[in-house]
Amino acid sequence: MNRTNTFDLVPQSETTEEILVRVLDASASLWNQLTYDRRQRFFDGESVWECDGYYDEYVDVLSGATTQQIARVNDTAWRSFFELLDDPAYDPSPPGYWGNRDEGRNLHTYIRDDSYTIRWNERSRLEIRIGMDLKDEYGFGMYERLRLPVRGNPKWRGDSGRLEIRYDSVEETYRVHQSTTVEEIETSESNGSEAAALDLGANVLVACTTTSGEQYLYNGQTPFEQFRETTNRIADAQAKLPDEQHTSQRIKRLYRTRSRRRDHAVNALLRDLVERLDAASMTTIYHGDLTGVLGEYWSVEANFKARSFWAHQQCIDRLESVCEEFGIDVEAISEAWTSQTCPECGERERTHRHRETLTCPCGFEGHADLVASKALLEQATNTTVRPTARPVRFQWDDHQWHPVEGTIVTPNE
Ligand SMILES: [Zn+2]
Repeated sequence: MNRTNTFDLVPQSETTEEILVRVLDASASLWNQLTYDRRQRFFDGESVWECDGYYDEYVDVLSGATTQQIARVNDTAWRSFFELLDDPAYDPSPPGYWGNRDEGRNLHTYIRDDSYTIRWNERSRLEIRIGMDLKDEYGFGMYERLRLPVRGNPKWRGDSGRLEIRYDSVEETYRVHQSTTVEEIETSESNGSEAAALDLGANVLVACTTTSGEQYLYNGQTPFEQFRETTNRIADAQAKLPDEQHTSQRIKRLYRTRSRRRDHAVNALLRDLVERLDAASMTTIYHGDLTGVLGEYWSVEANFKARSFWAHQQCIDRLESVCEEFGIDVEAISEAWTSQTCPECGERERTHRHRETLTCPCGFEGHADLVASKALLEQATNTTVRPTARPVRFQWDDHQWHPVEGTIVTPNE
């Protein structure tokens, strides 16, 4: 999987920044010359691949590797252009310039994977190769590289690919994008990859436990009440229909309203949760399959909620698409027994669930959905998870999910 690490460079002196700017500006100059030359040839009907001779001009500033790297990225841009040109569905323009006459060149470069090193620690730094002229001018040693302090942390660890450095004039910072190839996340024995498990429930929409010990509860009461209220209005409207008629515009509208409000709450929930998990560096999210959701230990009421409110598969699809945006893997695992097993003694048969509370003859009493998400996580990662803080409870206010003060876990309703 290819992922991108993003961080900023913080040159520690004016001289360092000056050298960096010269590298970025020379890169843009090379790009623009090559682009100008190729555009001329293209419009004259000549081959754009005949262009070279720029190497000598830039190698002593940029180093050979960076000069080649920029030429290669330019080649790729032209190749993509020609591919699109052959496709009748597109009307592409030839590659453009980095910057313009009025505002000057964009400060921008690409650094090949073997031309830089990054050390990640409390004083992280990037070192890049520069050309001999710059080394002479600024008194660098033969093999010395330009050293640039880094602000930020890598989100992904893996095989490092090329770097792109670009001056962001809005934020006034030198931003780096590092392409990284990460291995597929293994389910068990994974070191350093954090995971979370979700239990999709009836009263609590989602209970979540993470390998770093956080627990979240998204309370379904408000969205359920809205859902039920609209369901009652649908029933009323149906009762008033003439004998031959099965539906009406009003009923259809009520169904649409009911779905739209539910989808709004569920989508906002998934986004809130995934953003939270992404910020906590989670790389995998496990969710239970359906077997546990429609367990027979539930009341008729709970089953109504689970079956009609939760469009389960739709919700999982949505979860997957939000996670894809964040590069988080989603995996389904069997959640048989997870909601009924006592986390203290392992008892399954004699535990008792009343609403949200799971009790065991051994004396254990806890929130059933949290117990389930924790058990699911332990099963999936083959580890023991210890909650580090009290669970955070979230409430829906029709616009967003927000944490509720005094996050005491008690059965509600
Ligand atoms: Zn027990």
